[in-house]
Amino acid sequence: MSTAVSRGTSPVSPARQPRLTVLSGPSGVGKSTVVAHMRKAHPEVWLSVSATTRKPRPGEREGVQYFFVDDEQFDKLVANGELLEWAEFAGNRYGTPRQPVLDRLAAGQPVLLEIDLQGARQVRESMADARLVFLAPPSWDELVRRLTGRGTESPEVIERRLAAARIELAAESEFDVTLVNTSVEDVARELLALLR
Ligand code: ADP
Ligand code: 5GP
Repeated sequence: MSTAVSRGTSPVSPARQPRLTVLSGPSGVGKSTVVAHMRKAHPEVWLSVSATTRKPRPGEREGVQYFFVDDEQFDKLVANGELLEWAEFAGNRYGTPRQPVLDRLAAGQPVLLEIDLQGARQVRESMADARLVFLAPPSWDELVRRLTGRGTESPEVIERRLAAARIELAAESEFDVTLVNTSVEDVARELLALLR
């Protein structure tokens, strides 16, 4: 059974120029899982590593999932214009280091950002040919199950993330393409096709 559904209007065809792809979607939908699955088979796909003021989860490593910084360091990144975009999400700040992205694009390599809705909107403003991909859950109940089942956040933080999820789901139409994350394998394949 086909489980990945493309609901967007943009053609799923190889890009002529390497381009910036933004993957967004509510917390717990499976963004990291899909990207990790894709990069296991295709380690050449470059994923931007964001800076965040969030504390590392068990198993997360400095410079791999994130650059973990304190508020003062994040303030400096913002003040020095070192971030391509940044946003506050559920009580923490997250931002994309600008220079590595520009370097990859200048070298002709595709770039993938995994960022929230506010960041996706900023990228759309600053980089007109970016492709915005929305990862949607099969249902609201399944999203709640995944976010809760991941077991990495307190009930209070889960509530905050679900409140943000309602806003993000309502913004799906702002994206070029929607992929529904029913099957990790199917979505990883579709995302790879969009990147190329
Ligand atoms: P995000 O990065 O969007 O916050 P995660 O990748 O951490 O989400 O996934 C949240 C939880 O959902 C994880 O426990 C993950 O194993 C699970 N998950 C991801 N994709 C699927 C899927 N297609 N079917 C079932 N569970 C999934
Ligand atoms: P998490 O804390 O679950 O790792 O991430 C929370 C949210 O922040 C997710 O929606 C994730 O995509 C988003 N995020 C991660 N890095 C960035 C970033 O650099 N910029 C923005 N705007 N959002 C980010």
